[in-house]
Amino acid sequence: SDVAMYFAKEGRSGVEVYLAEKDRNSPERLNLLGDLRRAVGDGELQLHYQPKVNLSSGRVEGVEALLRWWHRERGPVPPDDFIPLAEQSYLMRQITQYVIDAALEQVAAWWHSGLRVPVAVNVSARDLLDPTLPELLEAGLARLDLPPVAIRLEVTERILMTDQAYTADSVHALVELGVPLALDDFGTGYSSLVRLQRLPVCEVKIDGSFVQRLGKTADDERIVRSIVDLVRSLGLRSVAEGVESDEVAGYLREMGCDAGQGWWFAEPMPAGEMTTWLRARVD
Ligand code: C2E
Ligand code: CA
Ligand code: CA
Ligand code: CA
Repeated sequence: SDVAMYFAKEGRSGVEVYLAEKDRNSPERLNLLGDLRRAVGDGELQLHYQPKVNLSSGRVEGVEALLRWWHRERGPVPPDDFIPLAEQSYLMRQITQYVIDAALEQVAAWWHSGLRVPVAVNVSARDLLDPTLPELLEAGLARLDLPPVAIRLEVTERILMTDQAYTADSVHALVELGVPLALDDFGTGYSSLVRLQRLPVCEVKIDGSFVQRLGKTADDERIVRSIVDLVRSLGLRSVAEGVESDEVAGYLREMGCDAGQGWWFAEPMPAGEMTTWLRARVD
């Protein structure tokens, strides 16, 4: 099945592999989906926020909203366990609407109190192609008196690199609206230079799997360096994901990578903590 393919490609473990090996209609899968349906309604979903930091100036450039689910019985369920499931059902649309609404409310609270940090939200394939997405964003931005650059969408390489995305009306409408797009998980797909050049993205996020190996092997260093160079030559900004140490941040800075995100700077945290964190750093 698609789910099994997805997990096989991502090389994941634990619950996910267990789910992947099961049939699409397995009790386990249906349970989690049923629970998720309830969770969306009952407010068990919440956003956490993680800052993105400029590697040369140390300035906070924005924050990424990351979905958290605190399951009544299971405790925290990681997004990598439930997003792929939700993507196979109508629930994903509802989840994305929740994420966009919550992120917009939060960015408005920050923005209007002087913390002008854009919030990035992750959107999945079908949501990006949903013709109502631009309207939803436009209405939300207007209602909260926010400029389009207060929000941005992160879309994975595998989705944005398809012809379907390139020609989608929704993508053109988003560009028209002025909402920036970022290419997520770069390096894990099969992008060609030509495609990358044609895409309406302003930022490329280098997948954490390459970043974390910096300093360990010369190959990984060459890969990251060539991505950073490629991204710069296209006039786009490079952001490294999964920066876990000062050493790695140093390598990236030396390579000319623009920004970094990861535990070295801050872990994803609830909105209240993020506000305190930002207040101490943004003027
Ligand atoms: P992503 O968009 O690539 O997000 C980055 C992931 O790396 C997050 O995992 C984040 O918590 C984690 N991370 C941050 N810093 C570090 C670090 O220094 N080291 C390591 N090893 N990891 C770090 P998380 O929160 O578990 O999210 C996993 C994935 O789930 C995300 O990957 C994204 O694809 C998806 N996701 C999360 N929230 C949403 C959402 O609201 N909507 C959609 N469609 N997908 C989401
Ligand atoms: Ca992301
Ligand atoms: Ca990513
Ligand atoms: Ca990822």
